[in-house]
Amino acid sequence: IVTDNKITEKVLQDILDQNKHFATQGKVADYIPELGKMSANSIAFSVVDTNGKVISVGDTDKKFTMQSISKIIALMVAVQENGEEAVFKNMGYFGSDKPFNHFGNLEITGKPLNPMMNAGAILTVSMIQGEGETAFQKVLKMVRYITKNESINYNTAVYLSEKETGHRNRGMFYIMKNSGLITGEENQLDNYFKQCSIEVTAEDLAKIGYFFANECVRFDGDATHKNADLSKLIQSQMMVAGMYEFSGEYARRIGLPSKSGVGGGITVSVPGKMGIGVFSAPLDSHGNSVAGYQMIWDFSKRFQLNIFTP
Ligand code: GLU
Repeated sequence: IVTDNKITEKVLQDILDQNKHFATQGKVADYIPELGKMSANSIAFSVVDTNGKVISVGDTDKKFTMQSISKIIALMVAVQENGEEAVFKNMGYFGSDKPFNHFGNLEITGKPLNPMMNAGAILTVSMIQGEGETAFQKVLKMVRYITKNESINYNTAVYLSEKETGHRNRGMFYIMKNSGLITGEENQLDNYFKQCSIEVTAEDLAKIGYFFANECVRFDGDATHKNADLSKLIQSQMMVAGMYEFSGEYARRIGLPSKSGVGGGITVSVPGKMGIGVFSAPLDSHGNSVAGYQMIWDFSKRFQLNIFTP
């Protein structure tokens, strides 16, 4: 059995160096113009080990937007507030076999497939209570809490770019409004765009991964939000739908609950153990960071983290 006391900066640096070149195989997301400005060369790799110790290498200060990774935080806040039953009343627990912005079954059953694809995420955000920006502020506050990083905020330019180009998301929002699933106004969609635009570092993502891996207990041991059941729910959604339509194959190879975002970040939970955060902006055709995925793969092999390992 490999124990995590062998996780050192040197080990992480080696893995980073060996996988850096994969970034050239990907393409920085540019369907939202502001995202296209991200540097393709920055790369970072961070781990929070079983003792809550943070180990990071690469461009550790580099900020990028959370994008889809914010969906797990919104899900947590919505479930804390309304209970799981209410949140999943009009939404499934299905795995993803379609891209993030796919309408899924929306036109047929009227219900989003899961809270990880955009339709379900937008519905989830609409269930967080409060007027105007309140729902977004709750999500932001939770991100700051989990990472113990009060300096986290959202990037206004990315937010405005999301809002300006988010026609598919607007379409989903109005289909759900039409069917009565959503009763609020378009500011709820703005809250979704804002949470996608929250800027974090790889280290912040590793802390988020650790939090959901450890019953919602923070890396420094703070247990304010401790909730074993909630962490199971979030990790199961990450497992079946966290990596877009690549989720099934990813589960086969890596075997760890993970959530990626088109900003180039991936957050990974090693159940009961650690958190991993990676960043490299160039993406594969599914929207997952190419070099990030490779670093996670190497790391999970090296420390035998795949949960399906006997
Ligand atoms: N802001 C993105 C969108 O809704 C989130 C995409 C993602 O990371 O999957 O288009």
